[in-house]
Amino acid sequence: MHITNAQNDIESILFSETQLRSRVAELGAQLTAEYADKHPIVVCILKGASFFYADLCRMMQCHISMDFIAVSSYGAGSQSSGVVRILKDLDTSITGRHVIIVEDIIDSGLTLKHLRELLSARKPASIKTVCLLDKHERHDPHIAADLCGFRIPDAFVVGYGLDYAGYYRNLPYIGVLKRAAYA
Ligand code: 5GP
Repeated sequence: MHITNAQNDIESILFSETQLRSRVAELGAQLTAEYADKHPIVVCILKGASFFYADLCRMMQCHISMDFIAVSSYGAGSQSSGVVRILKDLDTSITGRHVIIVEDIIDSGLTLKHLRELLSARKPASIKTVCLLDKHERHDPHIAADLCGFRIPDAFVVGYGLDYAGYYRNLPYIGVLKRAAYA
């Protein structure tokens, strides 16, 4: 049987497992201090944020509730349409609660901006946005997340939850795909 190896399609590793673990620990410590008595609802944007979310939640020492939302961030093309369609909504009410939205990556920033507006309409006590990666050259600075793991250049990255055509999410690091993998 021929076994394909996802790692062979990676051109370079941007952030290793060790780098990810240490940055996520820092973010977790920061959120722990900030939300010590606030019992926040931490919201995972499926599916890309799943590994980051699971690790971040485990690094938070305070009381938290966990909930999940799935949105379609892209329209027909590869550019973000800015229109967020909810594919799976939260199970719990966020009214009056402190909410932390956890996103994988910001490109145009439109997905996070619209999701923030959508959840704000439900009258939470506060909303904070956290993203692991930020392609900061690609969007206006005023739509950046409140908290960010790493700023990255404009390259298509996969791994640690991020996919290409549904694959590569299970790579334990963040890497840049070889052109041959999607050409
Ligand atoms: P935005 O609305 O900020 O333009 O798009 C954000 C979404 O686009 C992310 O949640 C992610 O699903 C997808 N995305 C943007 N850049 C990348 C990338 O480099 N790699 C992967 N795998 N997804 C990306």
